[in-house]
Amino acid sequence: MLTNDQLAKWDRDHFMHPSTHLAQHARGEAPGRVIQTGEGCWITDRDGNRLLDAFAGLYCVNIGYGRQEVAEAIAEQARELAYYHAYVGHGTEASITLSRMVMERAPDHMSKVYFGLGGSDANETNIKLVWYYNNIRGLPQKKKIISRWRGYHGSGLMSGSLTGLMLFHQKFDLPFDTVRHTTSPYYYRRADVTQTEEQFSAQCAADLEELIAREGADTIAAFIAEPMLGTGGIVPPPKGYWEAITPILEKHDILLIADEVVTGFGRLGSMFGSPHYGLKPDIMTIAKGLTSAYAPMSGSIVSKKVWAVLEQGTDENGPFGHGWTYSAHPIGAAAGIANLKLVDSLGLVKNAGETGPYLTRTMTEALGEHAHVGEVRGEGMLTAVELVQNRDTRAGFDAADKVVPRIVAAMARRGVIARAMPQGDILGYAPPLCLTREEADTIVTVTAESIAEVLG
Ligand code: PMP
Repeated sequence: MLTNDQLAKWDRDHFMHPSTHLAQHARGEAPGRVIQTGEGCWITDRDGNRLLDAFAGLYCVNIGYGRQEVAEAIAEQARELAYYHAYVGHGTEASITLSRMVMERAPDHMSKVYFGLGGSDANETNIKLVWYYNNIRGLPQKKKIISRWRGYHGSGLMSGSLTGLMLFHQKFDLPFDTVRHTTSPYYYRRADVTQTEEQFSAQCAADLEELIAREGADTIAAFIAEPMLGTGGIVPPPKGYWEAITPILEKHDILLIADEVVTGFGRLGSMFGSPHYGLKPDIMTIAKGLTSAYAPMSGSIVSKKVWAVLEQGTDENGPFGHGWTYSAHPIGAAAGIANLKLVDSLGLVKNAGETGPYLTRTMTEALGEHAHVGEVRGEGMLTAVELVQNRDTRAGFDAADKVVPRIVAAMARRGVIARAMPQGDILGYAPPLCLTREEADTIVTVTAESIAEVLG
């Protein structure tokens, strides 16, 4: 077996990591860890440290680590047929079965699923579908996409443009000029603190109306949003938000793309986030929870309304000119089937709707009055603790102080992994959906101890 020193040297010398400080990593100064095994909500690193993973990897290992049923399904598929493509009408039993299982779970007004590899490429697909849709409808000028500040939709060229976080734009010449961003439904950070949640929701809707009027509704194809903001800060929508937004989209013939990469398959305590908030999207993005990350797989689910147009496009103009080598990969599909069966048999959607709110509630009880905690919020199995330097002014910390990364490091020393969200002083939690109350208690205790260590 390789020594840890050997691995660390190869890692520094050869491995360019995503979302990592490149130069610091190459010098061996960036935080990091080599993970060896996983079981339930727990992972173990090469040094033998056992850690409770309160972010389920990147909120994707929904069924928890080490599920042998999924490992067996993957192995069996690999032995029987590791790969065949899905072009020109080809399929495998696994990919066709998974399409059936996805559509049985999707809202009734949805029609078909197109499989990809990850959330970013699924959103690239979605924008191409929307453009294709409007070209078929004879509306070639209706192409702009509205997204929201603090939305996260991936880090490809278009998906990164849709993302509303500075880190993903700066130094990459993004966003593309077909993308516009509108107000983030982030109540705690609203500009006018005198507004109630309902008033702030009306403000978000008015801002959207104004943007549409400025650009011209005939130039806008779609609005993309996570049912609940994830990477942008784990922020449930304020009261009345979706009720105010959706009629505007309908009025202006703007498609709604619900990015369910995080919320799909149970994280909010409902199978999908859209019905959870009363949304009827035209397109839904799925990834993470589709396979619980046991293999890469994503999907774009289109509604009956969208399908009715798409199917007209291909008759005259030849095949649909969009595909990846690995679309509907049989190993991903086998993982997806075994995963969705476990989500059902283990009752994980129900547990997310019970143990998740328990985590948010106990976190609020432990930290809600702390001098440096501005807000504890959450929905289902998603929780955030927003830290502030000053509770009255809501002023954040100096970025150079690295307050949240220091708290995350203090938590890891105590055996719990939380995530420093990329923008703002926010600790994020998105544990596997099989989290127990005892594990939730550990997360809260370790968070409180670590905040006390760093901030007093
Ligand atoms: N959409 C959302 C809502 C996401 O949270 C993510 C990933 N965190 C993506 C898209 C991109 O998915 P991927 O990283 O698999 O490309």
